[in-house]
Amino acid sequence: MRVALKVDVDTHQGLGQGAPRLMRALLDEGVTASFYVAMGPDNSGRAIVRVLKNPGFLAKMRRTGAVSMYGWRTVLSGTILPARPIALAWPQVIRALGQAGFELGVHGYDHVRWQDRLDAIGEAGVRAELEEAFEAFRAVTGASARAFAAPGWRTSAAALRALDAMKLDYRSDTRGRAPYRCAIGSEVFATPEIPTTLPTMDEVIGAPGLSDRESVVRHYLERFVDGALNVHTIHAETEGMGELETFVAIVRALKARGARFVQLREVAAELDRAALPLCEVRRATLAGRAGWISAQGDAITRAPAALFA
Ligand SMILES: [Zn+2]
Repeated sequence: MRVALKVDVDTHQGLGQGAPRLMRALLDEGVTASFYVAMGPDNSGRAIVRVLKNPGFLAKMRRTGAVSMYGWRTVLSGTILPARPIALAWPQVIRALGQAGFELGVHGYDHVRWQDRLDAIGEAGVRAELEEAFEAFRAVTGASARAFAAPGWRTSAAALRALDAMKLDYRSDTRGRAPYRCAIGSEVFATPEIPTTLPTMDEVIGAPGLSDRESVVRHYLERFVDGALNVHTIHAETEGMGELETFVAIVRALKARGARFVQLREVAAELDRAALPLCEVRRATLAGRAGWISAQGDAITRAPAALFA
């Protein structure tokens, strides 16, 4: 079994506090991971306002312990308190991750803007978000990012088009089963997509029968697939903060099962691009998550071979 841990860093606090704690825990356990950092302002307070408009908001706040998990400063960031920068506030954390051998990639610029307004900001808006993010990454690391992970697992034809033009090694933008190439309508995209294959902790915690640590760990262990690539997205704000012990318990159980931990860039390097299935990217909903995400649809077999060139 191969396990790729994909660490999304969404907030100022997540990068400053959660990411260093996760880094230490991963080094202690001797397992590697790939970190994707939101490079721009922390407007996570606006995300809370978005969730507030959804039915079931209070239940979700209680279930996930959002205020105790994030703290009021994060909950209000970008609303009544000014947005704090993420990557540019903690460049030393990003550099330390790179020096420790972890993979680094881009998780958008303004996470909340991308997640809430991807369709509204249009092609120029998408390109601006990407340019700002990749420029900030270069400023912090001195190198060009080779990978992108979409905020909130949300993508569009405009986003896939703009990312294709950047000739990245891969993207990890969607939820799905196994690496593929994306199609939307008649449009086919070149960059390999390596989807997240497991639910996230905030989707799992508090679901019926999953209130204690043992049952959450067991729930996950039943979902990792032997003999396959498992891509597990974790969050600096969740597994790096309040759920660190639960995460370490899962990692130890996976190690005992003989799992090999890999970075997504290793997975990407081994992909035979021409042999990847072509799948429609569709919008779907998930239990425990508000709004839509992009998901791997069925494989398309009717595409002429010329499309794969
Ligand atoms: Zn995120």
